[in-house]
Amino acid sequence: MTTIEFETSLSDEEAAVRDTAHRFAEEVLRPVGRALDKMPDPEAVVAPDSPLWDVFARYRKLGVRDLDDTQSALEPSDRARVQSLVSEEMGWGDAGLAISLGVSQFPRTLARLSGNPELIERFGGDEVIGCWPITEPDHGSDQLIYAGRMHEMPGRPNCVARRDGGDYVIEGQKSAWVSNGTIATAAALFCAVQDSDGRISGPAAFLVPLEEPGVRRGAPLDKIGQRALNQGEIFFDQVRIPASYLVLPPELGPWSADSVLANANAGMGATFVGVARAALEMAVEYAKERVQGGTAIIGHQSVRARLFRMYRLTQAARALSRHTLVHNSATMPADIALAIASKVTATETAFEVASMALQIFGGNGLTRAYPVEKLLRDARASMIEDGCNEVLGIMAAGRL
Ligand SMILES: Cc1cc2nc3c(=O)[nH]c(=O)nc-3n(C[C@H](O)[C@H](O)[C@H](O)COP(=O)(O)OP(=O)(O)OC[C@H]3O[C@@H](n4cnc5c(N)ncnc54)[C@H](O)[C@@H]3O)c2cc1C
Repeated sequence: MTTIEFETSLSDEEAAVRDTAHRFAEEVLRPVGRALDKMPDPEAVVAPDSPLWDVFARYRKLGVRDLDDTQSALEPSDRARVQSLVSEEMGWGDAGLAISLGVSQFPRTLARLSGNPELIERFGGDEVIGCWPITEPDHGSDQLIYAGRMHEMPGRPNCVARRDGGDYVIEGQKSAWVSNGTIATAAALFCAVQDSDGRISGPAAFLVPLEEPGVRRGAPLDKIGQRALNQGEIFFDQVRIPASYLVLPPELGPWSADSVLANANAGMGATFVGVARAALEMAVEYAKERVQGGTAIIGHQSVRARLFRMYRLTQAARALSRHTLVHNSATMPADIALAIASKVTATETAFEVASMALQIFGGNGLTRAYPVEKLLRDARASMIEDGCNEVLGIMAAGRL
């Protein structure tokens, strides 16, 4: 598969990182992502003999996962450019695996940001697979709308932490949508804190080892898109952790909810630019091969018009995504409306471009023998992932 050269101004170092990430995406993420997508049983995706584990092992050796680390030697804006390149390649390879690998780093990142050697030792290790449980069975979009003011959220939280001497005790459950939920060894848990009078505050963020007594998992979720991304419920039955595992206290709730969402949405933007680019490339290649009316279909005007629209939308989404990452690397607090604009634009672009690619493939596009229908399913999930796009839009408009 030839890559359409989108880039005009990469430094030698940036081009080298991009090429490394692209090789990993092409040789590992794409073939494994397709194989996992075709498995009818989501339990098989995480079985001991699944190729998923090799993806994690090879990712650890790749040398790109600490790029968003504050201790990186790069200037923030250079780091943001590199993050944009790497995330796009990961999404180009396989969106579900890209998300799984990205979120697997979250406890590690929070541990490092805390500067606490005990947390770095416990959660910063190579083997940690992380997750970000925030949504709950009764509170999906509510977790966004009431971010930082959980005391105003209608209904009781499904998961709370209570202080008990030198510990916190966690009780309740998070939703079936937690990415890496059934395989994670550690959580960056965002949940409400309840005081002794029953008052709710937060969210607070805790680092929680998930191999402790009292932690239980649901079954891996069976869904139509991003099937390589393991998801499932996590139940906490009086799980006791030291108070030092609290990394973002409830008083910081509004700030931490915004910062994390801004980061996550900006990362989603770059990842789903990669999905759009993958669909565009597949469509161009197919249009050059498929002959109808005695000519390759790329010779037909309507096919050309469609390809140009796909190219234009993908380039526009990429420009916004990269601008967002670079802008937010130098902005504190991060511009959340901009991050949301990037996520919504890139995911809707990925969906539209994948849909147009499917049309160019004709009947073949509908079959599982060709790869575009998977991109369409993966992109569809992204419009709900990290917040439904319409709810994110309502939030962003409130910040203008
Ligand atoms: C692929 C994927 C990965 C995910 N990963 C994670 C993860 O790692 N961790 C995690 O905790 N969660 C994760 N999620 C969950 C995701 O954040 C939620 O699915 C999302 O926030 C929506 O919540 P919900 O599914 O409960 O839908 P609901 O909140 O029930 O929304 C249903 C519908 O109502 C609309 N709606 C709801 N409230 C409002 C409102 N106030 N105003 C207007 N419209 C409204 C929504 O737009 C939507 O159309 C993931 C989801 C997906 C699909």
